[in-house]
Amino acid sequence: MTALLLFGDQLGPHFYTGHDEILLVESAAALRRKPYHRQKLHLVLSGMRHLAAEFPDRVTIVRANTYGEAIRDFGRPLVAYQPGSLAAQRMLRRLGVEMRPTPAFALSREEFTAWAGTRERFLMEDFYHFQRTRFDVLMEGEKPVGGRWNLDAENREPPPKRAKLGVPEPWWPKEDEIDAQVRKDLDELKLPAVGRDGTRRFAITRTEALQALESFVRDRLPHFGPHEDAVLTKDWTMAHSLLSVPLNHGLLHPLEVVYAAEDAHRSGAVPLASAEGFIRQVLGWREYVWHLYWHLGGEYLQRNGFRATTPLPDWWARLRPAMVRAACLRTALEGVRNHGWVHHIQRLMVLGNHALQRGYDPAALNEWFITSFVDGFPWVMPVNVIGMSQHADGGVIATKPYLSGGAYLNRMTDHCGGCWFDPRKRTGERACPFTAGYWAWMDQHEPAVRANHRMGRAVQNLRRLSDLDEVRAQERHREVF
Ligand SMILES: Cc1cc2nc3c(=O)[nH]c(=O)nc-3n(C[C@H](O)[C@H](O)[C@H](O)COP(=O)(O)OP(=O)(O)OC[C@H]3O[C@@H](n4cnc5c(N)ncnc54)[C@H](O)[C@@H]3O)c2cc1C
Repeated sequence: MTALLLFGDQLGPHFYTGHDEILLVESAAALRRKPYHRQKLHLVLSGMRHLAAEFPDRVTIVRANTYGEAIRDFGRPLVAYQPGSLAAQRMLRRLGVEMRPTPAFALSREEFTAWAGTRERFLMEDFYHFQRTRFDVLMEGEKPVGGRWNLDAENREPPPKRAKLGVPEPWWPKEDEIDAQVRKDLDELKLPAVGRDGTRRFAITRTEALQALESFVRDRLPHFGPHEDAVLTKDWTMAHSLLSVPLNHGLLHPLEVVYAAEDAHRSGAVPLASAEGFIRQVLGWREYVWHLYWHLGGEYLQRNGFRATTPLPDWWARLRPAMVRAACLRTALEGVRNHGWVHHIQRLMVLGNHALQRGYDPAALNEWFITSFVDGFPWVMPVNVIGMSQHADGGVIATKPYLSGGAYLNRMTDHCGGCWFDPRKRTGERACPFTAGYWAWMDQHEPAVRANHRMGRAVQNLRRLSDLDEVRAQERHREVF
């Protein structure tokens, strides 16, 4: 009889329902292949072992060096769902495993292909309107509830003038004996991991995922919107959901998450701006990056429109925040080291912005995000990193690079007050690396961005700078960030 092969990111009932025999593989070679964050390795093993413990009669975990060995030793025909990477897809083909379309996303591949048609540029907002209509979410007939598709204008408030946002705590898991065994095994394996080990912070069983979802929608979703883009040094989670791990491990279906948020709004418990902002992330962004990963294919990973070739510095790759002086960058790197997670704006406007300004190689950066983040998987990264954050695709995804100076960070974070650098200064010892880096990048890439009408004002301001030579010389030799 044919058994079902599941990967560690396919752990929910929409994958295993209807299958009596399930194979999971713990591949030593896969764990060792890259310098993954220690907490990411923990989540993958913990998730698979919890599923095996829940269904001992149906699930077998095979420990082997490679998937190929495990599958050959298993010796019976296998079927699998489309995996989350081109590499895994190639492997399944090589091993002769039959592949079925994944049940993990709301929109099917065929429907996305029909939507994409002959487009060469893929604006998320267009896709999002399509998704809202297709799944009838926050709609009144053919119109969006409240008359507007996107309420982001209400969701861009700077952080409040206090240390913490002051919203209810996130749901936290309780570790059990399976986690203890995973920790012991990982210690013994001595893998080339990065980041700190620490108490598990993310849901990794179906029961936990449902608890985390319920608690988020009840307690925190009402506060999600207004400060969605703000950063507070002492509040690492703000009002974010922390659901990317259970979503990306396949423990929650995106539509159940979306409907939970919509129901909470319709019951009057959640303001529209918060519900819409959150739903846009899950039904819009998340589905969009998945489908574009397959639609754009492997070639997209090599895009490097700004010819950025700087290797990732060791302090960055090895997660060493003590080497960093800029408070925003240090805090973001600390977050990655401590939790393997920082929120969206830290990923985009601190880490991504720094990498763009310093010309980090986009493919290496893409790989770093995959290995260093607990929710990082190959399919989720290219559109977020190569496209949105580094604009290395020449504008297939976004109309302009997400580049900013210290003024933006000063407005949207509480970091600058206590920082050694001054966000207003672009030259001198205290010149903020983001402010000076912004102008140095604009100067270097002015010919490439001149024609972009959304960059017009920035180009004009660049031409007015009287100290550009000084900025240029200073940033070329900057060693302290
Ligand atoms: C450079 C960069 C790297 C990123 N890397 C990842 C990653 O490795 N894994 C990942 O899931 N998301 C990634 N994102 C998107 C986003 O930052 C995270 O999904 C989010 O921070 C996860 O925390 P949360 O669950 O609390 O999200 P919330 O802020 O509560 O958002 C809700 C959910 O929406 C989804 N979502 C939101 N934005 C995106 C997006 N741009 N792409 C895909 N899904 C999205 C996630 O599933 C998330 O759980 C990245 C974004 C950038 C700019």
